[in-house]
This record gives sequence, structure tokens and C-alpha cells, in this order.
Amino acid sequence: MSQEHEQGHEDPLEREALFDRLRADLGDDQIALAQQITRLEESEQTLGADEGFADTAQVTAEQGESRALASQLREQLDDVEAAIARLAEGTYGRCAVCDNEITDARLEAMPATRYCITHASGV
Ligand SMILES: [Zn+2]
Repeated sequence: MSQEHEQGHEDPLEREALFDRLRADLGDDQIALAQQITRLEESEQTLGADEGFADTAQVTAEQGESRALASQLREQLDDVEAAIARLAEGTYGRCAVCDNEITDARLEAMPATRYCITHASGV
């Protein structure tokens, strides 16, 4: 990494402090998401196991919903875990497309993001 013309962050210590904070946030997110997924999976099993439930169509619909939600949460968890891995590797905070630094504000709003604002909506 070259030192010349590092733009945007005059104080690398501040960036480091931000990363420490985000690492803690991401750790919390990781735990919360894993718990939500477990709870969804458990409720899904309960729905399926409930023989007394008259409206099978509704059960199926609810199962479908919780399955869709669970897979969304699993994607979020993947992102969070990937971000934690990048923090450990030292590649965190850079766009996966252009390799520019992602702004502090954006990282604070979306700590798991791997794209700068320009590439936020996909490539
Ligand atoms: Zn980018």
C-alpha cells in the first residue's frame, strides 16, 4: 500500500476506531441474525407438525413466508460474516468493484456493504 495521495482520511486512527466499532456491531448482527434464523426454523417445524391446524393452505403459505424470510436473513448473515472476514483480512471498507474506499458514513449505515455508493445498486 502506498502512502501517497491517500484521499479522504487524514486520520487513519479514526478509521481504525470506526472499524473497531463496526466490528462490534457486525458481531452483534451476526448473533441476532443467527438467532432469528433458528427461531424461524423452529416455528416452521411447529407449523408443519401441527396436525390440528385446519387450514392447510394457510399453513403452507405461512411456511413459504417464513422460508422466504429465513433465506433473506441467511443472505444478510452471509454478508455480515463476509464483512467480518474482510475486517480480519484488512480488506474491509473498500469497494469490491472499483477498490475505492467506502465512506465512513456509508459503512456506518450499512456495515456489511461491499460496494461504494457508485456501485451500490449492483454492476
Ligand atoms: Zn465502487
